[in-house]
Amino acid sequence: MVSIRMRPRYQSVALMLSFPNPRKNDGLNASGVLTEVSKAAASPCPRVRFHGDGGQLAALAAGDLSSGLGAMLASEVGSFPDASLPPDEIRIDLDDSAASAGPGLIALEGDSFDVSREGGGAGSIVIRAGTARGLIHAASNLLEKLGAQFSPGVAPSYPRIDRARVAALEPWRVIPAFKRRAFVSDIMTWNYNFADRLDLHLRHDREFIPWMARRGINAFSYIRHAHDTRLKIDEVAPLLRERGIDAEYGGHVLQLLLPRDRFAEHPEYFPAGDDGLRTPQGNLCVSNPDAVAIVRTGALAYVHDYPDNALLHIWGADVRRGAWCRCGQCRELPPQIQYMNVTNAIARALADDANAPAVAYLAYHDTIDPHPGLSPLGNVWFEWAPRERCYSHAIDDPLCEINPRYLESLKRYLEIFNGRGHVFEYYADAILFGGLGFATPAVIASDLRAYLSLGITSISCLTFGAYSAMAYPVNLEAFVRGSRDPDFEPATTLVDIASGRHPRCAPEMAAAYGAVERASKLCLDYADVMHPVIPPEKAARKRDELREAALIFNEAIAAADQIAPRLDTSLSDAEKDLWRYSSDVLAGLSDYLAAFGLAGADRWTGGKAAIAKVAHAIGRIRAIDLEIKGTWGAYDLEWIREIWLGALARGLDGGGKPLEELF
Ligand SMILES: [Zn+2]
Ligand SMILES: [Zn+2]
Repeated sequence: MVSIRMRPRYQSVALMLSFPNPRKNDGLNASGVLTEVSKAAASPCPRVRFHGDGGQLAALAAGDLSSGLGAMLASEVGSFPDASLPPDEIRIDLDDSAASAGPGLIALEGDSFDVSREGGGAGSIVIRAGTARGLIHAASNLLEKLGAQFSPGVAPSYPRIDRARVAALEPWRVIPAFKRRAFVSDIMTWNYNFADRLDLHLRHDREFIPWMARRGINAFSYIRHAHDTRLKIDEVAPLLRERGIDAEYGGHVLQLLLPRDRFAEHPEYFPAGDDGLRTPQGNLCVSNPDAVAIVRTGALAYVHDYPDNALLHIWGADVRRGAWCRCGQCRELPPQIQYMNVTNAIARALADDANAPAVAYLAYHDTIDPHPGLSPLGNVWFEWAPRERCYSHAIDDPLCEINPRYLESLKRYLEIFNGRGHVFEYYADAILFGGLGFATPAVIASDLRAYLSLGITSISCLTFGAYSAMAYPVNLEAFVRGSRDPDFEPATTLVDIASGRHPRCAPEMAAAYGAVERASKLCLDYADVMHPVIPPEKAARKRDELREAALIFNEAIAAADQIAPRLDTSLSDAEKDLWRYSSDVLAGLSDYLAAFGLAGADRWTGGKAAIAKVAHAIGRIRAIDLEIKGTWGAYDLEWIREIWLGALARGLDGGGKPLEELF
């Protein structure tokens, strides 16, 4: 058993209402009139009050605040319902002069919140939010201002402070830059068909979802694939609901909306290949009105059956090319138009239902470039997912050789959709990054500023459970900070995460994370991580860059090795193993690219040795504690790497498909 299992868990979901020993109060107010003394008034200050009927969110926020403040002040801080307060308000009474609630003077939109001071003496700290969930965001933000840290993958830290620090809090207001701030996960990564694996993921969820809420995330989106038997994880639903995090369902579901068992009787519903032959793979024949009607009916049932779904993601098959129909009628229609026709058919049927969610049209792979003929209905939003972009540079960096065309595609989508768009980002995508550890906070900051400047206010980030928290903690933090305020400081984020995750060896880990960031810049111009086939001139450059990145990962390990053994934790051990894996894989891929430049037997021999090095690297991940690497590190990486290794081997023959076609 390792120490990570023993670490304190995040606060339980249960409301922590504490009623410390009520002091006797003489029950007289200043004018000597006997008053009824509430439990709140009888308890020592500071104390937290919230509207008791304001629902669970306000109670949860108040509980978070009282337990956090209590830990930091080393004294119990009571939390009390008080019906005289407005529902979206919480007060911290610093002394007994605290006034009762006055009317909120400011209108707060969405999850915005405002922290102000009222009353004589020390008075009260008044927290108001535009939404009840905004109170949770505000409570954590207040604790952060006092020095608490909420870092991904670890329990919150509540340093000891004195009361004067609380009393010195100045007013502030937060208006989140992005309205929708979402994380996204593939349902299959829960490994829900295996009870023990599902339990492992759920242990992570019970920590990660409270972290999300504390960091202001307000939506969680599940990606379903054709082989999934679930569209959400029921065990996670209450964790989201209790924190006001919207759930979104959908994903690559077009194939499910046209059940594959219809193929035997109605092959004409299904897409044809270039040879005209129908196949049960792919999406549908959009020229067949019956096929479109079946898909539409299925989507409407979906909306009806899951009224809590906040956004309807109807995506096609998750392949790069070839999922759309090439029959005689469809072949003149590009994939974007075929997809739009289906999306509009669904959206048209939902247009009159004011409660229906908007429909998301996925701009991804063969639909990433907009077609000028697209004419989306008003309740269709594009969801732009630039998976093949470069993460060594910001999306708007004109010097990047890859990103400018993606930014151009985004701008054109915005024009076509009249500004209705979501951006789907991959900052914590363990598949895209080959499971290697990376950190790109400066790219994330620039990206989010660029997206916001284009008028985009909806942003999401793909995650892979515990593995993303282990391998991309800086990116997760940069994302939550930037989705609230893209002017955050990336370098500070990196240092904060080092100290939040490793309070006793922060300088060493900050140096290590800094090295990881430098290595990341050399690796992430698309798909170098596990992409076996790139043009020869780029391969020559990447060979050297990946070699250098491997050495920089060794610097990260060396920095972490400076930690005194008694201060080492299972988490720093895990991260060192992750970086050893990263270094080994990059060294192997560099060798592989070098072999690629050789001819005949040398190429084969060198390539085989390089692949063996990449294959052998997995031993580093296998050594990592299950609780830290989670289901993805323990199970998903194992099958995904087989695909990579196979692609690398085929790449040696020169006839291999690009890797991304395999996903
Ligand atoms: Zn067709
Ligand atoms: Zn680039």
